[in-house]
Amino acid sequence: MTNQTLILIKPDGLKKSLTGNVLTRLSETKLDIIGAKIIRVSRKLANEHYKYLKKEPFFEELIKYIMGHYHKKKVMALVYWGEGAIDKVRKICGATNPEKADMVSIRGQYGRITTKGVYENVIHASANKTEAKREIRLWFEPDELIMDIYATKKIESKKNIQVWK
Ligand code: UDP
Ligand code: MG
Repeated sequence: MTNQTLILIKPDGLKKSLTGNVLTRLSETKLDIIGAKIIRVSRKLANEHYKYLKKEPFFEELIKYIMGHYHKKKVMALVYWGEGAIDKVRKICGATNPEKADMVSIRGQYGRITTKGVYENVIHASANKTEAKREIRLWFEPDELIMDIYATKKIESKKNIQVWK
């Protein structure tokens, strides 16, 4: 079954110049990239993305990590689409704990645990279809993706839109 998944190259991945390495590993999946951008992560976006971890003792450190407090204040967000996308990408990423992750997985190769106990594991990938839908809709607008993967609606807007001059 085809599906789609959200991938984030986290601030440690960008700081360590791993973008190319990570994209090369992901290309092993033969999936299609249908969206890509660089984002500066706000606290609001970080909180929303990791809201299911709010009660964890590492939550505040995790929010600071994804916002780029310790590395670069940016993440690369991508949507991959294709046969079994969610599972294929999770497999290449490896386990959440970089020390337990398969050594040839992305997290196993490049991740570390900080002295504060945060798993700096280079990459995020959606865990399942429900999460993928929630996350892709959170990180991307419909017109930033080159495929219609979820229902959309048109809204009348009086907002000033900036264009290039
Ligand atoms: N995390 C952490 N310590 C933990 C569990 C998670 O630092 O004990 C961080 C880690 O960066 C992880 C993120 O929180 O990628 C989200 O956790 P989740 O359980 O959703 O793991 P994932 O889906 O990223 O494998
Ligand atoms: Mg998760």
